Amino acid sequence: MHKEKIEQIKAEIAAAKASTTDELEKYRMRFISKKSVVGELFAQMREISHEQKREFGQVVNEVKQLAEQKFQELIESVGSGKQKRGNGQVDLTLPPTNIPIGGIHPLTATRQRIIEIFERIGFNLSEGPEIEDDWHNFTALNFPENHPAREMQDTFFIEKNPDIALRTHTSSVQVRVMEKEKPPIRTLSPGRVFRNEAISARAHCIFHQVEGLYVDRNVSFADLKQTLYHFAKEMFGKETKVRFRPSFFPFTEPSAEIDISCLICGGKGCNICKHSGWVEIGGSGMVDPNVLENCGIDSEEFTGFAFGMGIERIAMLKYQINDLRLFTENDIRFLQQFRPLL
Ligand SMILES: [Zn+2]
Repeated sequence: MHKEKIEQIKAEIAAAKASTTDELEKYRMRFISKKSVVGELFAQMREISHEQKREFGQVVNEVKQLAEQKFQELIESVGSGKQKRGNGQVDLTLPPTNIPIGGIHPLTATRQRIIEIFERIGFNLSEGPEIEDDWHNFTALNFPENHPAREMQDTFFIEKNPDIALRTHTSSVQVRVMEKEKPPIRTLSPGRVFRNEAISARAHCIFHQVEGLYVDRNVSFADLKQTLYHFAKEMFGKETKVRFRPSFFPFTEPSAEIDISCLICGGKGCNICKHSGWVEIGGSGMVDPNVLENCGIDSEEFTGFAFGMGIERIAMLKYQINDLRLFTENDIRFLQQFRPLL
């Protein structure tokens, strides 16, 4: 048997390379064609004794398969090399390459839409740090130390004494703006906020808020209502109704929750609105004079309103999403549905 010879041919096949059609043809002549070394092995079959034929035949067929398999690989590598070089020799019969295009995340799209609506009525954009000190997150906003209102927001503390925490709302940005700028102030603060809550379909420990602040002479609750009417109609459609419900927040007085008429049933009552016809979108109120004074603004001269909304909440209502966790799971089947928002 020609064991050594066969091993040598196998090694040659394994090491063979081709980057041009000429080299490919050389390979074909040496290992595939009738007069190739593999062809010769087949020719030798005739001279082999009957007993050895079966075993030899198996070995030769194996070599032939190896040679053909390698030939296919070389054809493919020469083909893709040509395409990469872009030398005009593109094979137009190849199927087109599918390039998947990304899309805008529904939360980003919602955030952008909210910003657009408020920018058009004169609000500018402000941002602040996600790690905040006690003053900006609580004390300046009229949360006295040891006050139960602090317990309403389960906080992630990074350090105690002095307290450093992940901000629980974007109201901290409003404090920073008021400390730095003089009225008139009209600003919108979108951003990520953090609360130590169990993750469920309706709550998450990380979510997004957008808060608005308007401070000037003679700003009234009527201005607040009109601004939010305008927002609701722009965001959810002309037919949307808005309702204010008295509430309590440490940083506003008076305070109100903002409801809009249910988008699903139009106010008739359904599962989404728990048959009330209304769904809550956020909180609002007139800035407490203490907060203005804490930020160096004369509360005798100036008044202001503030409002805050969850961006997830707005997106869930607008696109009828029933589980908050979908936003962060990165499931492509969910995200692909928002491609048209591009
Ligand atoms: Zn409803």
